[in-house]
Amino acid sequence: MSTLLTYISVKDGKIKRSSLEVLSRCVELARENDHDAAAIVVDANASDYTDELKKYGADTIYLIEDPIFKNHLNTPLIRALSLAMEKIDPAIVAMASTEGSKDILGALAANQKAASLADMSEFELTNNGVKGKRPVMAAKIVASVKAETYPIILTVRAGSYDVNEAEADTSVETIDFSFSDDDLKVTLKEILSASGDKIDLSEADVVVSAGRGVKDEEARNMVSELASLLSAGIGASRALTEAGDYDPSLQIGQTGKVVAPQLYIAIGISGAIQHVAGMANSKVIVAINKDPDAPIFDIADYGIVGDLYKVLPPFIEEIKKLKG
Ligand code: FAD
Repeated sequence: MSTLLTYISVKDGKIKRSSLEVLSRCVELARENDHDAAAIVVDANASDYTDELKKYGADTIYLIEDPIFKNHLNTPLIRALSLAMEKIDPAIVAMASTEGSKDILGALAANQKAASLADMSEFELTNNGVKGKRPVMAAKIVASVKAETYPIILTVRAGSYDVNEAEADTSVETIDFSFSDDDLKVTLKEILSASGDKIDLSEADVVVSAGRGVKDEEARNMVSELASLLSAGIGASRALTEAGDYDPSLQIGQTGKVVAPQLYIAIGISGAIQHVAGMANSKVIVAINKDPDAPIFDIADYGIVGDLYKVLPPFIEEIKKLKG
């Protein structure tokens, strides 16, 4: 019996949904293959998350708690995860594909002499490792990849799996950890938060996204009103971030953020491959575009062909009515 260990990312006092997606997949695989599913939280207040985590079926929750983990710092995080891997000896360490995990994956794999599989959209166990799919070239091609030596560290794209609660007799173990500030080669001076939208796009349940069809303040106001009614994050195509209409941090796509919300509303966006690379994993896609041949309609679940200046006002009114 082997252990499938999921690293749980937390941000602003909340467990990231993408981490719970990975944990749910690992619990499913562990149960099917008679393995152990474990989760690890590395944070300044790691124990705060045990009650919530217990709902998702891990056999063991490991905690590494130290004030150094108040902010993301590669050196202590790699050291903590290396220590955990040496202690737990997992066959697989899985994490959500986040900026943080991208930052540490290579170094952790080298440190632990592990195979690494990055940015998977699906994965399963084989007799001697892991195989799965990985979208490449702005998601135009899906590569089949495999690793055949343990341990294997893999990262998984947000939205690839559902979050499922599961019963388990979960035990909680704290791993002793100490870290001296003298060991830090890089220190964190300041965190500059992105201006504008406060909702974390990569974790948002609903994203309302504006493209070049959103031409002026009137349209931008409608986008904001719709987003606020739906408690949505606001995104934008590169056409609008380059034009300076939206903050660059809101760009979705190949050279922007990758999002996987339950609902993605694309307003005045043509659906260029570089944009689609950042949102194709959305559960339900709604597109509003005046061009019936716009490629965004090829991937949309619901399409409204029409001028957004005429479509959005009644759309917003209907949502207001529905919300009472
Ligand atoms: P357009 O393609 O100009 O489309 C505007 C759409 O609005 C049209 O379909 C039009 O019919 C519709 N429209 C216009 N007026 C109205 C109206 N009144 N009502 C309804 N619909 C209307 N792009 C990204 O978004 N993200 C990226 O990360 C990204 N990375 C890139 C990386 C590289 C290397 C390159 C080369 C390009 C990248 N791009 C990226 C740019 C991408 O190729 C497209 O140029 C861009 O996505 C187009 O944005 P858009 O859909 O808003 O604009």
